[in-house]
Amino acid sequence: MELNGIRALVVGLKKSGMASAELLVRQGARVRVTDLKGLELLPGGYAFVSRLDIPFRKQSHETFEDCDLIVLSPDVPADLAPLVEARRRGVCVIGEVELAAPFLLGKTIGITGSNGKTTTTSLIGHILQGAGVPVQVGGNIGTPVTAMVESSRPGQWNVLELSSFQLETISEFRAHIGLALNVTQNHLDRHHTFENYAAAKGRLFETQTRGDYAILNACDPVCAAYAGRTAARVEWFSGKGKVSAGAGLCSDKLVLDGKLLMTAGEIPIRGRHNVENVLAASVAAARAGVDGASIAAAVRTFHAVEHRLEFVRTAGGIDFYNDSKATSVDATLKAIDAFPGGLWVILGGKDKGLDYAALRLPLAARAHAALLVGAAAPKIAAQLQGAVPLVDSQTIQAAVAYAYAHGHAGDTVLLAPACASFDQFESYEQRGRVFKQIVQGLPEKS
Ligand code: ADP
Repeated sequence: MELNGIRALVVGLKKSGMASAELLVRQGARVRVTDLKGLELLPGGYAFVSRLDIPFRKQSHETFEDCDLIVLSPDVPADLAPLVEARRRGVCVIGEVELAAPFLLGKTIGITGSNGKTTTTSLIGHILQGAGVPVQVGGNIGTPVTAMVESSRPGQWNVLELSSFQLETISEFRAHIGLALNVTQNHLDRHHTFENYAAAKGRLFETQTRGDYAILNACDPVCAAYAGRTAARVEWFSGKGKVSAGAGLCSDKLVLDGKLLMTAGEIPIRGRHNVENVLAASVAAARAGVDGASIAAAVRTFHAVEHRLEFVRTAGGIDFYNDSKATSVDATLKAIDAFPGGLWVILGGKDKGLDYAALRLPLAARAHAALLVGAAAPKIAAQLQGAVPLVDSQTIQAAVAYAYAHGHAGDTVLLAPACASFDQFESYEQRGRVFKQIVQGLPEKS
């Protein structure tokens, strides 16, 4: 795409909008930016537009007129009325990943899925780095793809976490290795139907060509169906047995390309779902040229990503785990499943309209008590009543104090709230950090 001299509008002025504007300016485009919020409410906004010397306009219908190219940040729905109209006028409307595509040097591994993207992306980066393969990691985590362009090199791998929002507008962007972990109901507010959501993720495989690899979860019917929509060579991973090409779990053994890779017990991150993430990452790393021994060695030294079943500390013989990213019942079920028993589970926060009754049986089987915090506590209490002892804790501070006082050596205190954080915290990250601070401050039991 020739960008020199074209009139480009960047929609959304956060990290990826800023990186897109920078790339466009470097390529000689006449750039302007817009956002629903005024510049005064956008952190770093003033400094950014004055450094680049580009105009900013608060978003209105007219903002979308008089441009040749519109670049959307991932937060911006691609089906907004003025965007539909702009497309009708022949304006090219793309996302930030698509903008980066022609300029990104080296090869690309793209990871998508409803759950496990960040963990698997980080793990692939860790394996490649451990094997001495030049690599940079970004996308939906950390660095936007447009901001990775300048540091990209031929012969290097770009390992990219990609969300459905980033994939729905791609056409030129292509992953040499594409990976689909799982597809479950999510983001229906934005994609309207499950089919649209699944189709957005499926774009990753539709733009692949012969010689590329599509690595798909054999146990997930939506992922498996992507096999019929790609020109790439299809490889599989399965948490439930052998696969024809790729990696599978056979009893407790991870088998890659027909050879033993390692046993599940050697994986330092907890939970069955993480075994699946390791299987998927292993196939991707193998196709990027890393041998099995190097893959296994790197997996053994991988630490959980912050706030994802992250081990915090042992105090008084009690282990503390931070899974603040578990903001849904589904994720909390995965977290509980990762421990044999002796749990004190901290639940609650801002309710997302979920049904907590699914937690009754696992909690009854594995938990001493559920410690309820935040705005959702009354709803959760009503749905869990009688299944497990409930402690009305209100705050994470009180919940930790209670569990520490009543727990015994060998127990585990698990923050896996099944709720959003916004009633008491800015984000799940802040909630996780507060939990860790409280835990680090606990005195040793005498
Ligand atoms: P994402 O980036 O897709 O949100 P993360 O790696 O941040 O994924 O994990 C988010 C949550 O999803 C974790 O707390 C964990 O409970 C759950 N999870 C991780 N991997 C998987 C998986 N392969 N299948 C199902 N759930 C998973």
